[in-house]
Amino acid sequence: MNVYTSDYLRSLLLSSLSETDNPKEADFIFINTCDVREKVRHKIYSFLGYVNKVKRKDAKVYVIGCLAQVDKENIEKRFNPYLVGLYDREEELEDIASSIIKHVKREKIKRVSAYLPIIYGCNHFCSYCIVPYARGREESKPLERVIKEAKFLFNSGTKELILIGQNVNDYGKDLGLEDGFIEVIKRVSEVGFFRVGFLTSHPKNFKLNWIDEMKSIPNLLSMFHLPLQSGSNKVLKLMRRGYTREKFRELVEKVREVFPNAMISTDIMVGFPGEEERDFMDTIDLVKEIEFDRAFMFMYSKRPKTLYYNIPDTVSHEEKLNRLNFLIEVQDRITLKRYRSFIGREVEVLVENVKDKKGIGKEKNGRVVVIDDISEEDVGRLIKVKIYDANIRELFGKRT
Ligand code: SAM
Ligand code: SF4
Repeated sequence: MNVYTSDYLRSLLLSSLSETDNPKEADFIFINTCDVREKVRHKIYSFLGYVNKVKRKDAKVYVIGCLAQVDKENIEKRFNPYLVGLYDREEELEDIASSIIKHVKREKIKRVSAYLPIIYGCNHFCSYCIVPYARGREESKPLERVIKEAKFLFNSGTKELILIGQNVNDYGKDLGLEDGFIEVIKRVSEVGFFRVGFLTSHPKNFKLNWIDEMKSIPNLLSMFHLPLQSGSNKVLKLMRRGYTREKFRELVEKVREVFPNAMISTDIMVGFPGEEERDFMDTIDLVKEIEFDRAFMFMYSKRPKTLYYNIPDTVSHEEKLNRLNFLIEVQDRITLKRYRSFIGREVEVLVENVKDKKGIGKEKNGRVVVIDDISEEDVGRLIKVKIYDANIRELFGKRT
């Protein structure tokens, strides 16, 4: 979401201003923040301190994103920015831009793969998560507006569009649409993109029949990010996730039945209060059984305002670290095995970038592929690639 808002601001400001990543020479400095985990908060504060020290006296600092919303007063007091708050809607970003430049005109920025938010906020209130407090309740973007923006991006040269939201499966509920999620993907898939994907799903809200319907979308990027969080039913309940490990398994099985090569990734958290050794082992067992293609793994950290903010940790930092390292070790082995199974296979890659004759892009299920010996002209094209190697992040291939 933050990548999108930063890009949107950029597209508005670039008509009159030029960009620098050196805060010492900037007139306007934008810092787009996250507050999902504690560690990130500390990094942002130290960056804000650095910016205040080196910036020009008359430079204006804008702090936007989740942390700017949740910790507004503290940021104002400590860093005295020109503006602080969430600012995640296009209209709000347009207001910022028109307070800086006279005639705001949105520039077309060519991005082979681009994001488009379709739903803002979250209604779920998982007991560990700050997002509903930072980003408010769910609000879907009207379908016609999604299509209009998708066409703008298509005409700017975008070849792959990823529809985003904290919980894209809820798309349209507030607009009175029962199956808005599948409707929006189908409509966007007709705009002309090579590929259309979506991110992030909530396992609780993903209807199994939608997966059958997706089969009829020829340009679907079959990349399913399904955050598990824990493999223990006890912990899932404490987290207020609204599904069980059995339901989650059923969802994965359905995805694999319809899309055998789908890339299934997940988020997992360790050390949630109440997570005992046997709960953690339930997570390990499920991870081994499901064999995710990739996983983003974190240590639980307390977030202000959440239901669990005042619940004491029951897992020491050292134990959290041990569990995290063990989980990463298990998952890395699985990822490597699954990625290496592509060696010798031919895949179709949409080339996103080329540097020093090395291309980077995604195959049609979302796995990142590094391609040897290709040229700038291939950016934005679909090319056939034979895979000869893999690590836990990428496949490596040569054009056939
Ligand atoms: N909406 C998505 C979902 O329902 O899973 C995830 C959104 S959250 C911004 C991204 C990931 O950050 C989560 O899946 C979770 O694993 C992690 N996360 C959220 N709150 C956390 C916390 N308090 N401590 C550690 N990790 C956290
Ligand atoms: Fe946070 Fe996702 Fe739960 Fe919403 S559904 S509260 S964003 S983890």
